[in-house]
Amino acid sequence: MSSVMQRLAKAIDGLDEPAVEKIAKDQKEDPFQVLIATMLSAQTKDAVTAAASSRLFRVARTPRSMMRLSEAQLEALIYPVSFYRNKAVHVKQTCRQIMTRFSGQVPSTMAELLTLPGVGRKTANLVLILAHASRENICVDTHVHRISNRLGWVKTRTPDETEHALYRASPRRWWPLINLYLVTWGQNICRPVYPLCPQCVLADLCPKIGVTKVGKLVKG
Ligand code: SF4
Repeated sequence: MSSVMQRLAKAIDGLDEPAVEKIAKDQKEDPFQVLIATMLSAQTKDAVTAAASSRLFRVARTPRSMMRLSEAQLEALIYPVSFYRNKAVHVKQTCRQIMTRFSGQVPSTMAELLTLPGVGRKTANLVLILAHASRENICVDTHVHRISNRLGWVKTRTPDETEHALYRASPRRWWPLINLYLVTWGQNICRPVYPLCPQCVLADLCPKIGVTKVGKLVKG
């Protein structure tokens, strides 16, 4: 695994970072904005997440100010992220709970984060890694799940299973980086359908488990 991660560290240099990583850096790892951007990002393209987050944060940057927006205002600001109606409800409820139960601070434990509406393990792990500098968590989304299985690191059916299997299968030093490296690779090379195996820097190391058709080489 270490040789794969070392190659990816070099290979992702120059590729676009995932939206939430970019937002986390731009906002100096502000836990609240990382949390909200991650909630908006579920099943949504990066460009849409980035634009919706920036529209929303221009109007409200704190749980106190965001809580005061109506659901209709939230919907209008975050549209067209996927499930924008549900996400508007969850964002508003989450802001209220952060204010009433956590004194305005985004909680810093998995157990507490999971009590917030609309927050699952993927969101909680990313907030812990990006905003609370945790080195104890692995954030698994569909890219991490798919690529970990193609590489043969794990043999699992769901992202939650993959997360738990990766804690056993991977050296701790890579845990906080797995999401950044594999999501970037999944968006550019190891795509869900027609992965670009012929131009992948991992091709000689990867058993390509489950890959039946590969994409065409992109010239230039
Ligand atoms: S060789 Fe193919 S399946 Fe393996 S990581 Fe690269 S793109 Fe993905």
